[in-house]
Formats: sequence, structure tokens, C-alpha cells
Amino acid sequence: MQTHFDLNALARPEISTADEILRKCVHCGFCTATCPTYILTGDERDSPRGRIWMMRDLLGGGDKQTEIKPADVSYHLDRCLTCLSCMTTCPSGVDYMHLVDIGRAEINKKIRRGFADHVIRTLLSITLPFARRFHLALRFARLAKPFSGLLTGRLKAMVNLSPTRLQALDKVGSEDQLYPAETSAGTRVMLLSGCAQRALDPEINASTIRLLNRQGVDVVVRSQASCCGALAHHINAEDAAHKQMEAVCSAWENDIASGQLDAIIVNTSGCGTTLKDYGNLMSRNSRHSETARKISDLTMDISEYLNSKMALPTLAKQNMTIAYHAACSLQHGQKVLQAPRALLVQAGFEVKTPAESHLCCGSAGVYNVLQPELSQQLKERKIRNLNKVGADIICAGNLGCIHQLSDASSPICHTIQILDWAYGGPKPHSLLNGLG
Ligand code: SF4
Ligand code: SF4
Repeated sequence: MQTHFDLNALARPEISTADEILRKCVHCGFCTATCPTYILTGDERDSPRGRIWMMRDLLGGGDKQTEIKPADVSYHLDRCLTCLSCMTTCPSGVDYMHLVDIGRAEINKKIRRGFADHVIRTLLSITLPFARRFHLALRFARLAKPFSGLLTGRLKAMVNLSPTRLQALDKVGSEDQLYPAETSAGTRVMLLSGCAQRALDPEINASTIRLLNRQGVDVVVRSQASCCGALAHHINAEDAAHKQMEAVCSAWENDIASGQLDAIIVNTSGCGTTLKDYGNLMSRNSRHSETARKISDLTMDISEYLNSKMALPTLAKQNMTIAYHAACSLQHGQKVLQAPRALLVQAGFEVKTPAESHLCCGSAGVYNVLQPELSQQLKERKIRNLNKVGADIICAGNLGCIHQLSDASSPICHTIQILDWAYGGPKPHSLLNGLG
């Protein structure tokens, strides 16, 4: 793609990065075929190619004849799920993920959001990343659930997303803790305890720690590193996101400097994608850039770690089928596609892949709150495809997807819960009614 940035603009590091990315796009349009929003709306401005074009103009690199309204770009960038399916498809290696970060930061400078939009984004950024607050908010939302029919739009989506059954807040992450293996092999990992996940499903961290301990791995958790900043980053609350990223770097820097960590383990793939990008996101932070770079190098999804570093035994056939739902952040963001499937097969399950497995389920961070109509359409489409598989269980490696797809006809849980169960742990809660 041709760009026309002047030298002054190119002196800004983010513009020169954007220029480099934009010039790789050859306008072939392959990405449009796998973009969920383009598939739903058929509008070029809701496709990666259209958004790339609009971002070029917004940043000032377009033809001087064409004027673009920041509000129009904002409308279509807000509708982007950041699912990164376009990056998997693109033959030219266009780095859409970093381009859209630059585009959204520019939008922040150029437009003032409406009052309602501002309030809802603020509300999300001051609750979701804080496990205790979010757990409390979910209690209130559950009280409002019977009246959700009286609500509309984003408020209705928020109330509807609260779970019918709320578990106790996950204790993992409430204080600094070492979870030692009974027979330690001398390997130590750091676990990101998470934020929203601790409020919604404490079993995921418990299963992760049990399975790692059984493999002789000691697990460390630091309470100051709970939220990685991904949620705030997702809604453009960059100041809040950077504060959370700084807190994570501070909390982990001594452990990293000790050289004793084999890996930083993440069991929420949305967070994993962000941690793996810390080196870039914090590159201009004079205090933490080096730690951030090391965090990127050490971060591994739990499935990636188990598959590449542990030698789990191969179990006998379980006579049970699993429909594996590949979260976008895992398959497109981190390019981890085979590890979860391989582990499930090794644990004796028959693994099936639903149709359109490359498409997002519409959860995408807080997309299901901010864009409820598009999210609902994607959710229904995904559930239809999953139901057609007719599996006994659905597995996914990201809490957002698990929550979004909980209306599917098969019970759904995290891949790590199933693996923990297969290797001697308790049966996941979501499977307790029905499966033998
Ligand atoms: S597939 Fe890549 S090169 Fe082709 S239009 Fe999309 S982003 Fe541009
Ligand atoms: S990130 Fe997803 S929704 Fe956004 S342009 Fe790419 S494929 Fe489309």
C-alpha cells in the first residue's frame, strides 16, 4: 500500500512503525474471507483491508485529497474484535495487531466519546481487572438478572453475562504463595493468577497448579501481579493498562532476575497474548522495559508448556469425545493450535474440530458488552457449529470463550480442567450433572 507521510510525521516512532506495517499490505483481500465482522456485515469498512485503509488516512498517510472523519474510523475500529484472524490469513505478514493499537491510540486523541460510552468503559476498567470488585459486581448483577428484560443494549448485555451460579472468589492470587510439588524436580514456574477469571472460575487455577505439581513443578504466585492489563488495553484505557503492566513487572522482577523461573504460565489465552507482547508494549518504559522483554520471552500458555516441556503419560481411550474450541487469542494471537489437541488426545479423548473453527465466538475481552448485537450473532453461529459436533464435552483455553459459549448443548470447561481430571484430579464442576 502506498503511504504519503511527511518527514515530520515519520519522526514519530508510532507513525514510522505504522508506515512499515501499512506498506506490507498489497490489498489482495484474502483477509476479508476470514474476518468475522466482514462475514456478518459485508461492509468493506468492517474488514481488515478497509480498516487498514482507514487507519492510514486517519494517521495522515493517505492521499491528501481524501478526508476521513475520525468518528467514522472509530465506529469501525470499535467493531473490530481484535481476534487477529486476519493475521493468520494474510500472506504478506501485515502486523494488524500493532497497527490497530496505533490506530486506536490516535482515535483516543482525536475524538471525545459520548457520555454513555465513556461511563460504561470506565465502569468496566475499574471493576473487571480487580477480582474482588468484580466478584462483588457480579453479585449485584445477579440480583438484576430477573429484570434484564426491562433493560436494553450494553446494560442488558452486562447483566445477562453474569453467571447464574457464582462460585467463591479464587484464593490463588490473594497473597504471595509458593505451591510446592510433593516430589519436586527442582523446576519452578510463575503463574499469572488473573483477575476476572478468579471471580468467575476458581477451578482453573486449582487444576493448573495440581497438574504442574504432579509433574514435579513448583508454582509461585505473586499477589501484585493479578491483572496483566489486557482488559484495559482492549478498551483503550491505556493509562490504566500501563499501570497494571508496571505492577506486574515490579511484582515479578526479582523472581525473573533470580534466573530460577522455567516459564511464566498463563491459563487465560487473552492474557497470554498480551504478556507475550509486553516487550513491545513497555518498550518505552525506562524502568521496566528490560523486565517486560524477559516476561515476553518466558511466557507460555499452559498447554504449550505441558506439551513441550512435560512428559505426560499416554492414557487409555476414554470413550468420550471433545469438541475443541480454539480461542482466537490462542490460535491467532499466539499461534498455539496443536498443543491443546495433542494433550487431550494423549489423555485418551477423541478430539473433534467444529466447522468455522477459525472464527471468533464474539467474546473478545469485553466486546460482548460493548458490541452486544454483533457479539450475539457470532455467539449463535459458534454455538450452532459446536452443537453440530455433538461431542460429550467442549473445551477451550480462555475463560471469556467458556463463559460466552455456556449455552451450548454440551458442557464446556477449560482444557486444563479436563487434563487435570484425566490425570487424577477432581471432575470439573460443569460436568457434574450428567457425564459418567
Ligand atoms: S490479506 Fe494482508 S495483504 Fe491482503 S489485504 Fe489483507 S492485510 Fe492486506
Ligand atoms: S482482528 Fe478480527 S475482526 Fe478485526 S479486522 Fe482482523 S479479522 Fe476482522
